[in-house]
Amino acid sequence: MPAYVREALGRLEQSGYEAYAVGGCVRDSLLGREPSDWDICTSALPEQTQAVFHAHRVVPTGVRHGTVTVILDEPLEITTYRIDGAYSDCRRPAQVTFTDRLVEDLRRRDFTVNAMALSREGRVFDAFGGLDDLNQKIIRCVGDAETRFEEDALRIMRAVRFAATLGFTVEEATERAVHKRRDNLKKIAVERVQAELTRLLGGHCAPVLVRFADVLAAVLPEAVLTEAAAERIERASSLAVKLALLTRGSDPEAVLRRLRYPNAVIAQAVCAARYPAAGIRPDLPAMRRLLGACGEADALAVLEYAALTDVLSAEGYARAAALLEQIGARGDCVTLAQLAVDGRALGAQLGLTGRAVGEVLDRLLQAVIDGKIPNEPGALLQYAQSTIIY
Ligand code: ATP
Ligand code: MG
Repeated sequence: MPAYVREALGRLEQSGYEAYAVGGCVRDSLLGREPSDWDICTSALPEQTQAVFHAHRVVPTGVRHGTVTVILDEPLEITTYRIDGAYSDCRRPAQVTFTDRLVEDLRRRDFTVNAMALSREGRVFDAFGGLDDLNQKIIRCVGDAETRFEEDALRIMRAVRFAATLGFTVEEATERAVHKRRDNLKKIAVERVQAELTRLLGGHCAPVLVRFADVLAAVLPEAVLTEAAAERIERASSLAVKLALLTRGSDPEAVLRRLRYPNAVIAQAVCAARYPAAGIRPDLPAMRRLLGACGEADALAVLEYAALTDVLSAEGYARAAALLEQIGARGDCVTLAQLAVDGRALGAQLGLTGRAVGEVLDRLLQAVIDGKIPNEPGALLQYAQSTIIY
């Protein structure tokens, strides 16, 4: 436990409150993984927590839900023990009630492995069998799975996501409920589903994608998830390539837009899926054209997608990637902007005007890319004069 977390727990305890680290950070540290962030739960009410940390910067991030953020070494979310009220429409609870019992706070949490608390002295508070499930690598709902998925359908996606990121299996009753209630996912805000999907894809996702293909289909009916497809998706290194593979055979742009992915991710996925296979060869001109058309990051995505869909062999991919790097490092001319002459020079030196300027520039670029002429003003102008105009 980092010192600033220990310190926060200590201050709350000294003021007479209970306080524990809770949720994902407990799970991850018990697994020997570095927690992404530390959350604290406490018997102190939000105003009481604010008073305890009066000497620090405190941001009332979600006081209505019991959360304040205290800025110590790092921002730390401290949430009052709470019971979630009635849920409306498979989404967040309408209102929450504070409680002074830790076990009630743990009971509202989604999975047993996420429902453990850790004291400042390192004691684990485990009321729902989280430790056993952690040891057996099992995702199991706290309480009745169907009820929990009825309350909040995002938990369906989270179950599948944790199975992938932790490499766990989903316990039988929980799995049955995941399948049975999958359509409730359609009621969840698409951004939240997207965030879970992204994390799922970053994990050991192949077996999960196959086993829960029906769940994916609830939010992404276009996905075709054969075993081979799922393997490829797991092997892909970038999110965009994973998404391009996931939406293979449909319109990636439309699907990813619907899922509200950022424009850069969509552009890269579309580039990877749509770049003409005939243009993907491990030779200099082809790789220069690819780099000119897509830029470096997207070009690599194109190559990876091509390798995973057998457009490129493994050696072809390695050679093509090495060429791309060479081209970038040398600063080869791959775009009009890098050409050593521009439209003005063509006008001044050769008297070209109008559409001819663009056409000639483009033919010069193609000649440079093909290695027919060096990218130097004299050579370019001479080439323009000899082969294009006359
Ligand atoms: P990670 O941060 O690695 O994604 P996490 O378990 O910390 O995993 P968070 O989304 O940060 O996930 O949530 C923190 C904790 O809040 C969870 O461990 C769980 O106890 C609880 N929690 C989060 N979302 C839900 C939910 N939809 N239903 C019930 N409990 C939840
Ligand atoms: Mg977390």
